[in-house]
Amino acid sequence: MSPTVYLISGANRGIGLAITAALAARPDTVVFAGARNPSTATELQALSRSMPSNVHIVKLASADEEDHKAAVDQIKKDVGRLDVVIANAGQVFALPSASPPLTTEKNPGINDAYASIFDTTPDEVREHFNVNVVGPQVLFRATYPLLKASTAAPKFVVISSLSGSVALGPGMHVLNGAYAVSKAAVNYLARMLHFENEGLVCFPMHPGLVETDMMKAFVAKDDTLKDFPLISTVDSAAGIIKVVAESTREKDGGEFVSYDGSRLEW
Ligand code: NDP
Repeated sequence: MSPTVYLISGANRGIGLAITAALAARPDTVVFAGARNPSTATELQALSRSMPSNVHIVKLASADEEDHKAAVDQIKKDVGRLDVVIANAGQVFALPSASPPLTTEKNPGINDAYASIFDTTPDEVREHFNVNVVGPQVLFRATYPLLKASTAAPKFVVISSLSGSVALGPGMHVLNGAYAVSKAAVNYLARMLHFENEGLVCFPMHPGLVETDMMKAFVAKDDTLKDFPLISTVDSAAGIIKVVAESTREKDGGEFVSYDGSRLEW
């Protein structure tokens, strides 16, 4: 049986590393693991050394078209196709430290883990869009020709966030405005990709609230989050892998899906 070939961006730490490690442990899988700085991706390097035929590191800085071209050229030469691409790399920049206390209609609590649109600079919005929206777009444009060479139904899955839900996000207790609007935009992008590309399985996914560096940055800002139950990267990755493996265009295409397989409001 020919292996399933994956490309995961942001694979050097957090959820991306956990997805890569779990996939690499399977005998029937080849993973191309994207990292913007392969030379400092020590855990990923160790994983690749321990499973050299399953894990191949490629340099991928989000939205960098040169990097993506070089990575795709290598994958084309090595295996000639991609079956599943997971656009996982994402960034939330530091919350403004001097935000005024903020209350919202839904959450009267005052907290420091909320960055309002007023307190967010236009440059912060631009930077979030570059990594979280332009990043997945560049990844899709680079990889689609190789996805079309898949012998199974090709899949392009975007790791988004519940923060990007227009229905549920605004008014949340903890929210970074620039991050949230960028995730709402990438949800739209993933849904457009579903409608524009016949045969492609494409949808945005919320990975759960996961114990990673990104989530720790919020917890450090807000005492009320200290006892909040975060899931492990292993559990998030296991959920994502299962949902992606069982996904079909008819069932999941163009939907907003959680790591546990449930549907989320847009
Ligand atoms: P981490 O901060 O742990 O990891 C982020 C990953 O994205 C790293 O590999 C990082 O690489 C990479 N990355 C960031 N910026 C760039 C860039 N410019 N170019 C290339 N790679 C980049 O975050 P998580 O693992 O928690 O997040 C993974 C995804 O899950 C993100 O899309 C995030 O928005 C989403 N998410 C996470 C949630 C959570 O609870 N943790 C909740 C909802 C969504 P580097 O090491 O080089 O910075």
